[in-house]
Amino acid sequence: MRSSAASGGAAETSQPWPDAPEFKVTTLSYTMSLMPPYIVNDLGLRKHGYKINPLGMGYLPHPDGRSIIDSGTNPSTYASYGQFSKKDGERIGPYYEWIGRLAAIMHPLLDHTPPHLGSLKLRDIKDVAMLAWTLKKRGAIGEQTVADITRLFTMSCTDLLDRWFESPVVKGMLSINGIIGTWAGPFAPGTAYVLMHHSTGQETEGQVASWGMPEGGMGAVADAIRRAAEAFGAAVRVNAPVEKVLIKGGRVTGVVVKGGEEIAAPLVVTTCHPQITFLRQIDRKELPSDFVADIENWRSRSGTVKINLALAELPEFTANPGFNPDVHGGAISILDDIDYLERAFQDARSGRPAARPFSDCEIPTVFDKTLAPPGRHIMSMFTQWVPETWSREPHRAELEAYADRLIDRFHRVAPNFKGSILHRQIIGPYDMEHDYHILGGNIFHGELTVDQLFHLRPAVGYADYRTPIRGLYQASSATHAGGGVNGLPAHHAVREMRRDGALRT
Ligand SMILES: Cc1cc2nc3c(=O)[nH]c(=O)nc-3n(C[C@H](O)[C@H](O)[C@H](O)COP(=O)(O)OP(=O)(O)OC[C@H]3O[C@@H](n4cnc5c(N)ncnc54)[C@H](O)[C@@H]3O)c2cc1C
Repeated sequence: MRSSAASGGAAETSQPWPDAPEFKVTTLSYTMSLMPPYIVNDLGLRKHGYKINPLGMGYLPHPDGRSIIDSGTNPSTYASYGQFSKKDGERIGPYYEWIGRLAAIMHPLLDHTPPHLGSLKLRDIKDVAMLAWTLKKRGAIGEQTVADITRLFTMSCTDLLDRWFESPVVKGMLSINGIIGTWAGPFAPGTAYVLMHHSTGQETEGQVASWGMPEGGMGAVADAIRRAAEAFGAAVRVNAPVEKVLIKGGRVTGVVVKGGEEIAAPLVVTTCHPQITFLRQIDRKELPSDFVADIENWRSRSGTVKINLALAELPEFTANPGFNPDVHGGAISILDDIDYLERAFQDARSGRPAARPFSDCEIPTVFDKTLAPPGRHIMSMFTQWVPETWSREPHRAELEAYADRLIDRFHRVAPNFKGSILHRQIIGPYDMEHDYHILGGNIFHGELTVDQLFHLRPAVGYADYRTPIRGLYQASSATHAGGGVNGLPAHHAVREMRRDGALRT
């Protein structure tokens, strides 16, 4: 399906319709949120074309004719939620304040290399103490805060939101961050953490994350990073799959790419899914057996389907006629309520595609004129769920039917929608695995469950970006601070290389 590779992996902009090359889509990932300003500045990404357009907080057009327009913490947002429950309209401000406070406390964890918890080596004990000190400074050590954080790590979105809200529609809207990319519905324990992960953006000092759409699609972010790397002297090669990591005496010596070419290197960094590197590119006998067991048991299920559309015109919503940047320029949620989300997951868990799929939709062309001709638009539909086993077979016809059902559901709230679709592209878990090497189709190279986070991501003893092979480091989104297009794992891996004296600068 995909003939050549760009440098961006899941951060790619492409032209999927040969007969309509004037449309460019942000193929898989579509929103920036977690890349910190220090990475943007250190790499000089802006001068290499990195530009972020604002993204509205969210819009939910309900089939009953009402809608929620979330334009941030202001009275009009509260009134919008208040249509579904007066009490919820009053609670939304304090809720955002609460989750923003926790996100700000947790944010330093994203900047930290996970320490070796439980190790009694002096250096590891020092690292744990440093982390505890950072958290203390942030106010994370305190009975109430520790209780709140424990709840986040262990509760489901539903249970967490039940503590705040009564309307199932409001709870549905607010649980989206907890289920994006997960192989779990909002009733599953642990989804409250995912909700917080997606709320932890760079501007989280007391606020919920602000998100943005990159001009030129996500491929433009990858291109800016590539140009920055080249400006620093790097040579970038694409279409050069690594088949083997070369190891001598427990130390990396280079790689072999398809066709047999050997590239010698004293230092190698892998950003592939960990099962590709550690189970396919390296002979298992080079690795400790408990490490291999952790990698074998690594879970990367998802059931996500990405649908990209070319549109002749913007959707005209029955609930909010006319153009409104807070409606068209934000994340448009297709769901009825929190039970709708759970049912969609339960369908997939039972081996069937969701009868009524959920979607988080964005129309980047509201702000970005580089992706479509004037007056035309592209829409990015991030959708869930199909069975996780669909990564093994293409299931093309069923995916077409799944897309039809979602489009029908969208059409119910925007009656010009179906007639406006010029082209569509459907990318299921099989395509993600086979064309993008995202095993299992999990958008983060590994589920964000408590047992796969922080000091356990991706294996006990190797969450510090090192691997059992000296000179081989890892920085995929299956390492801590992944997933997302945020640059953090690579940044932290370089910090650890410096700590090891493996880099000259
Ligand atoms: C559908 C979808 C939607 C998403 N939406 C968002 C979003 O809106 N915002 C966000 O922040 N994140 C999003 N993500 C997640 C984000 O895209 C990933 O976390 C991020 O791209 C991971 O970066 P990475 O470099 O770790 O891996 P990847 O982007 O997967 O890159 C790994 C690269 O390694 C290459 N590779 C694999 N095997 C080999 C080999 N043998 N030799 C050489 N190269 C190899 C791959 O082809 C790929 O280019 C989304 C992901 C998906 C799939």
